[in-house]
Amino acid sequence: LTDAAIIVAAGRGIRAGVGLPKQWREIAGRSSAARALAAFAEHPEIATCLLVIHPDDVGLAAPLAEACGAQVVHGGADRAASVRAGLEALAGSGVRNVLIHDAARPFVSAALISRVIAALGRAQGAAPGVAVTDALWQGEGRVGAIVPRNGLHRAQTPQGFRLEAILAAHRAHPGGAADDVEVALAAGLEVAIVPGEEDNFKITAPGDFARAARHAESQAGESAMRIGQGHDVHRFTEGDHVILCGVTIPHTRGLDGHSDADVGMHALTDAIYGALADGDIGRHFPPSDPQWRGAASEIFLAHAVQRAAARGLRIGNADVTLICEEPKIGPHAARMAAELGRIAEVEPSCISVKATTSERLGFTGRGEGIAASAVVLLVPR
Ligand code: MG
Repeated sequence: LTDAAIIVAAGRGIRAGVGLPKQWREIAGRSSAARALAAFAEHPEIATCLLVIHPDDVGLAAPLAEACGAQVVHGGADRAASVRAGLEALAGSGVRNVLIHDAARPFVSAALISRVIAALGRAQGAAPGVAVTDALWQGEGRVGAIVPRNGLHRAQTPQGFRLEAILAAHRAHPGGAADDVEVALAAGLEVAIVPGEEDNFKITAPGDFARAARHAESQAGESAMRIGQGHDVHRFTEGDHVILCGVTIPHTRGLDGHSDADVGMHALTDAIYGALADGDIGRHFPPSDPQWRGAASEIFLAHAVQRAAARGLRIGNADVTLICEEPKIGPHAARMAAELGRIAEVEPSCISVKATTSERLGFTGRGEGIAASAVVLLVPR
C-alpha cells in the first residue's frame, strides 16, 4: 500500500456562519472533518492519512487523528499553503499516489475514492466532476448571456495525483489556485475526470448544515437496517385442519410438528432471528423442552419481534411465501397478513402473504408437506 490521503481542514470557514469553523461543527453528532477523515482512514487502499489543520484547532483534531491513526500537520495561510504543508510532510515517504480532500465534504464514498485511485493507474491526476445539467446564465440581475453547458463539470474532491508530480507542481506554483487540479494543470499534468457524486457536496453556506444533517440521518437509518430470510417445512399427517400464518383452515389432513406446525409463521420468525443474527426458533424454543409441545406459534413470532425491539428495530416489511398444492391459500391470504401484523405490531400493509404450487414436483408437489419461505427487513423503530 503506497497511497495516502490529505484531508484539508485548516480553513476558518467564515461563509458558513458563526461558531466553530464549518469542518469542526457537528452534523448529527459528528463533525464534517471526522466524517471525511474516517472515509479515507477506513478505505482499504489508503495506507496513510494526514489531517492538515489550523494550529488553533489542535484540541479538536488530536483525538480524532489518534482515533483514525492519522498524522496532524499544521497548515499555512491559505488552502494551497495548507496542501503544500501536507505534501511536504509526505515527501520522500515512498507514497505513490496522494488524494487531496476538503474536510468540508463529509459524505465522500468509498466507491468514489476507489474511482479516483483506479484512474490514477492511467493518468497523472484524476478528480471527480459532476456534469452540469442546469442551464447557465451570465448576468447581474438580468440575463446577459446563455453559457453553453456542454462539457462543463462541477469540480469535487478528492483530487488524486502522483505524489512527486503534484509536490513539484505546488512548489512551482505562484499561489492563488482554487484547487489542486488548477495547480496540476499549471504544471502541465493531465487530469482525468471521474464521475463525482451529488452526495459529495461541500458545506459552504449555513443552510448546508441542515442538508448535511438530513443526509447523515438517512445514512444512519440505512446502515441500521437489517435483512433476514427464513425457510421451514412441515409434513402432513392425519388431521382435519392446518394453521398457516395464524389462520385455521379446514383441510383433509393436518401438519405434523412439535408446536402447532404453523410453517408460515415459523419462516417469518426465523427471518427476524436471521436479520438479528440471533439464531432460530429451535435455539430459543428447544423442541426437547416439553413446555412448547403444541404451543401456538404466536409465542415465537412475538418473541422474535421483542428481540428486534430490544435492538431498536421493527419490521419495515415482510414477504411470506407458502408452497403447497393444497389447501388453497388465496382466499385466506389477507386474513393471514392481518394476523401476522397484529402479532408483530405492524400494519397489515407491511406484510405480504402469497402462495405458489410447485407444479406437482417434489415433496410439496406430491402433497407430502408444506414449505414456506420469508424475507423481512428490519428498520429503526
Ligand atoms: Mg417449523
